[in-house]
Amino acid sequence: MAIEVDRNLCEANGLCVAAAPEVFALDKDEELVIGEVVADAELAERVRVAVASCPRNALRVTG
Ligand code: SF4
Repeated sequence: MAIEVDRNLCEANGLCVAAAPEVFALDKDEELVIGEVVADAELAERVRVAVASCPRNALRVTG
C-alpha cells in the first residue's frame, strides 16, 4: 500500500496524523511525512479511512 499527498492541497491540519500516527506525521515545517504502510489489516483500514476523510482530498492510494 502506497500513499501520495498533493502538497498544493494539504493544509497540515493533522487529521490523517490523528487517524493513523504510525504512517502520517507533520515535520517541523508542518509538511506531511508519509511512512511505510506495513502489511497490517487494521492499520491499512485506518489509513484508508484517513485518506477518505481528508477534508482537502489531498491523499491518494497509489498502490
Ligand atoms: S488530513 Fe489532509 S489536509 Fe490534513 S494533514 Fe492530512 S493530508 Fe493534509
